[in-house]
Amino acid sequence: MTRARRLVRARRVVVKVGSALLVDAGSGRLNRSWLESLADDLAVMAGRGQQVVVVSSGAIALGRRHLGLTAGSLRLEEKQAAAAVGQIRLAHAWKEVLESRGLTVAQVLLTLGDTEQRRRYLNARSTLGTLLGLAAVPVINENDTVATAEIRYGDNDRLAARVAQMLTADCTVLLSDVAGLYTADPGQDPEATLVEEVPGIDARIMAMAGASVSGVGSGGMPTKLEAARIATAAGSHLCIASGRREHPLRAIEAGSECTWFPASGRPGRLRKQWIAGSLKPAGVLSVDAGAAAALARGKSLLPAGVVSVSGRFDRGDAVRVLGPGGAELARGLCAYSSEDARRILGHRTGELEGLLGYRGRDEMIHRDDLVLLGDAEAGSGA
Ligand code: GLU
Repeated sequence: MTRARRLVRARRVVVKVGSALLVDAGSGRLNRSWLESLADDLAVMAGRGQQVVVVSSGAIALGRRHLGLTAGSLRLEEKQAAAAVGQIRLAHAWKEVLESRGLTVAQVLLTLGDTEQRRRYLNARSTLGTLLGLAAVPVINENDTVATAEIRYGDNDRLAARVAQMLTADCTVLLSDVAGLYTADPGQDPEATLVEEVPGIDARIMAMAGASVSGVGSGGMPTKLEAARIATAAGSHLCIASGRREHPLRAIEAGSECTWFPASGRPGRLRKQWIAGSLKPAGVLSVDAGAAAALARGKSLLPAGVVSVSGRFDRGDAVRVLGPGGAELARGLCAYSSEDARRILGHRTGELEGLLGYRGRDEMIHRDDLVLLGDAEAGSGA
């Protein structure tokens, strides 16, 4: 029961529901009775005074049957079309099951830019915060109909984690067709056991994830671990649990088997968490050993320490910072576009104005805009 308290006691909870649970793989129809049982659990939580946010997949899985797109994998434009048909049905189903339990439902469709661009992130946060303040239950999905391959989350696990971070949720639950993280693939290895608690996500844990993908949804265990990394660094506990049973949240509360990732001690400043959790950094800056050492001491990254720039990005976009060995050291918001960054790399501060034709910042990435990897919770600087 002690771990389960993380869910019972949470003030604000994000519950992500996978397509494989909501939509029957054979018939392509909504699993109505299962959804009713989940709605019962959500109503209990709301009744206890908990704020609930649902991240629901299922639009594409639900819509494809109506367009006769039943066989095989879909092309992007078919997915977009299926999502348009499925999302309206999905939202309708959520409205019916939650409103019959006295809860007001709000549909929110997000695209990648709504969490990855700072201004839009703050805007989405304020809308969701207003909805929660008015006791509505936001039901969120990716706006698949207008999302193209380059600008898609592609999976709702990481979307749910970004939402949890955005709303400083205390607990995130990923309901899927797997019961949690196993030490090995349980389908292949009879010795595989479920890991109940993951205090930190290291290389050993990543190796356990393999690349398992369920038949209906998009995410596998790796995206769930990435979600766990983002959510826990933002101060949210995260639980991966099976939804292959009725009343799946009640089951977690009753202590049934699942994998917990406890929130890391002290969440950092919100802006740094946002930088650390960026899902699609637009470029890469490789730095020399001197710059790597300076970063480790909490210094800013200067143009002189940058040896190469790859990708295309604008001023203020998130980039990865790689050390001389190629390992990712940090993420940060670059003060220069990729074009200008290439022009000034390796140069001293005094030379920048002459190279650029304008007076820019002395730093390539200021320390306030920089998060060392594994340091999102440190909260130093900004
Ligand atoms: N957004 C997709 C949908 O609603 C699902 C993404 C996922 O499976 O995680 O169909």
